[in-house]
Amino acid sequence: MKKILEDLLEIAGDRVSASLAERYCYSCDASQIVGLPDFVVRPKNTSQVSQLIRLCSERQIPVTARGAGTGLAGGASPVLGGIVLDMSGMNRILEVDIENQQVIVEPGVVHEKLNLELLPYGFFFPPDPGSSAMCTIGGMLSYNSSGMRSVKYGTVRSYVLDLEVVLSDGRVINTGSKVLKSAAGYDLTRIFVGSEGTLGIITRAGLKIAPLPRTRKLVLACFEEAEIAGHAVIKVFSNGITPSACEILDRTTLQVLKLCDPDLALPDNGDVILFEVDGSVCSTEEMASQISEICRPMAKSLKVASGPEMAPIWAARRLVGAAISQLDPNKTRIYIGEDVGVPIKQIPALIRKVQQITTSLDIPAMKYGHIGDGNLHVALFINVEDKDQWDRLRIAADRIHRAALSLGGTVSSEHGIGLSRAEYMPEQLGIEALQVMRSIKKALDPKGILNPGKMGL
Ligand SMILES: Cc1cc2nc3c(=O)[nH]c(=O)nc-3n(C[C@H](O)[C@H](O)[C@H](O)COP(=O)(O)OP(=O)(O)OC[C@H]3O[C@@H](n4cnc5c(N)ncnc54)[C@H](O)[C@@H]3O)c2cc1C
Repeated sequence: MKKILEDLLEIAGDRVSASLAERYCYSCDASQIVGLPDFVVRPKNTSQVSQLIRLCSERQIPVTARGAGTGLAGGASPVLGGIVLDMSGMNRILEVDIENQQVIVEPGVVHEKLNLELLPYGFFFPPDPGSSAMCTIGGMLSYNSSGMRSVKYGTVRSYVLDLEVVLSDGRVINTGSKVLKSAAGYDLTRIFVGSEGTLGIITRAGLKIAPLPRTRKLVLACFEEAEIAGHAVIKVFSNGITPSACEILDRTTLQVLKLCDPDLALPDNGDVILFEVDGSVCSTEEMASQISEICRPMAKSLKVASGPEMAPIWAARRLVGAAISQLDPNKTRIYIGEDVGVPIKQIPALIRKVQQITTSLDIPAMKYGHIGDGNLHVALFINVEDKDQWDRLRIAADRIHRAALSLGGTVSSEHGIGLSRAEYMPEQLGIEALQVMRSIKKALDPKGILNPGKMGL
């Protein structure tokens, strides 16, 4: 250990820490998965990352990359010890290239900061996670993150043109270039996107950006039941309308939001879908009225919001995951079974099954999320000191995962696999496809040092 520390200090100087207090700070992400690292290193450039990884390869030391640690699947938790590589210090926006509609950034850039930088140019980086103010581009790339606007604009994967990656033996490669289209061989870029730090360390990214829409409008449609709300979503999409956001807030979620702010312009009772449309003034008017007409026969109430009216509603939507403690301060939200997704047509069936599961096991739950992608966040919350509640929660989460799989869905639409959902990978992918993933892992990381223990690999 002493020799390793000396070598780390030689590469990264005072950006290395072996103090127990710091190691604890890096022992988990925002999930419940924990593992204590032996060292924390905060590299400041690609050359340092390359030297560090070469050292880890020679000594067979596990390396877990970390962005902001907001992940919800244990991806950044160093479950087998070793080194946590905190990439948040490599946080420069290196180039804003408006003519080519792209940016080049280091992985530690915080998502919201990138969009603030692009605002004066009239552009934005569309993937829009609820954690925008905290999470880093490196973490987003590694989880293929998305969020409220992916229903129209797609996930992170659709925006990556080039990655600089440090491989498991310290070599540095680029996977693409500035060209928008390339048919040159295997798509290496997309092998690294969503790989959760198991194949290489991303040290730079070339990302496409998009022009900001002129205007936005929000249709708030309130329904008697969540399942009916699900049917309304199917109807809107099958009429050929693509909203720029399509979020569900069930009645428990509304209750939580109203406890935070009684004046919030949301209905008091019912299950709500927020349909946002964006584009020109004319097209948003037209789409908002089409959505209203489609929903009218099913809805309890309808309202169209625009301009500054929308900001507090979206701000509340972003906060909702954490706000659940308002319902009962003795209970904590547990991030398991929270990110399932199904094909659009199966949304009402998923809602029904989740309701049956949580009711039969008597676990309070809040349902919200990016329902236009078929993605439902189920917030289960319990008193963590009560073993019986934990036991029931684990059963509920398992049943929710299996319900999604039985409907042709996924155990994770955007939060990733990490360790939280690793056990479902054989069922999710099929054993043959999982073997192909394992072969890719073996080829790129033969010593298994990069984020070991994750993704069921
Ligand atoms: C309140 C809240 C709301 C959220 N809302 C959303 C949402 O709407 N949509 C969504 O998709 N997610 C959401 N998340 C989850 C999380 O914020 C995202 O997954 C985010 O992209 C993680 O970024 P991070 O920088 O925190 O990454 P971390 O948690 O630090 O790491 C994530 C993964 O990436 C790997 N990694 C990090 N940097 C690198 C690198 N440079 N090279 C290689 N591997 C790397 C890590 O090893 C880990 O496996 C939310 C989380 C919270 C707490």
